[in-house]
Amino acid sequence: MSETNIEPSVERAQELVENASAVLLRIEKCSTAISREKTPRLVCVSKLKPASDIMALYRKGFRHFGENYVQELIEKSKILPKDIKWHFIGGLQTNKCKDLAKKIENLYAVETIDSIKKAHKLNEQRSGTDYPIINIYIQVNTSGEEQKSGCNPSECLELAQYILTQCPNLKLEGLMTIGSIAASTSSGKNQDFEKLVQLKTSLKQELNIDLELSMGMSADFEEAIKEGSTSVRVGSTIFGSRPPNNGH
Ligand SMILES: *Cc1c(COP(=O)(O)O)cnc(C)c1O
Repeated sequence: MSETNIEPSVERAQELVENASAVLLRIEKCSTAISREKTPRLVCVSKLKPASDIMALYRKGFRHFGENYVQELIEKSKILPKDIKWHFIGGLQTNKCKDLAKKIENLYAVETIDSIKKAHKLNEQRSGTDYPIINIYIQVNTSGEEQKSGCNPSECLELAQYILTQCPNLKLEGLMTIGSIAASTSSGKNQDFEKLVQLKTSLKQELNIDLELSMGMSADFEEAIKEGSTSVRVGSTIFGSRPPNNGH
């Protein structure tokens, strides 16, 4: 991303604000319909979209933005306001934990921690900075598909305990799943979302912690909220379709 102009055009700003406001309204309606006391959080997924798009929403009060690529996130964080709450939601390699921890002061959350090794690295690299703690979502492979990232549900308790007891620079905030398309389109409840809810319940029993649930994207965020999501990650419904991610 070489572009450093963060000023959106008037037309684009208007379009983005309309789209994001419509999503917010749908989140509120859905949450009211099931008498949820707290409205789920909207994380605007801005990957592969210009910094000016983010600026347009920032000016209307949106603060939580999700990014998938470490280098792109670093570039954007350098030029955009420091009170943005960045969520890293992309596939994470252990050797990228250092850059995330050290180069992004206002990194609010990493939602794709799926191993003790990555938690260890991120914690270790964040210490020695005077940056705030990083909130962690354990990514769970709820569909059991081999090509999907995320830890196995059976590994989740040990990883949660490790973060809680060994990682003073990290705060365990929740669980995250991407979910499979098949589960989203099948009739009835989404099995991936159900599995994440079950895991939350069992971790509450085991560890006495109340975890947030990050689940639901453009195609299924309302369904996810109905099943218990407290944080939805919405990209294309707000920003439009994305360019192909060549170069990543
Ligand atoms: C891209 C992405 C999203 C947003 O997807 P949309 O379908 O565009 O809303 C959400 N979560 C993750 C992990 C993603 O990679």
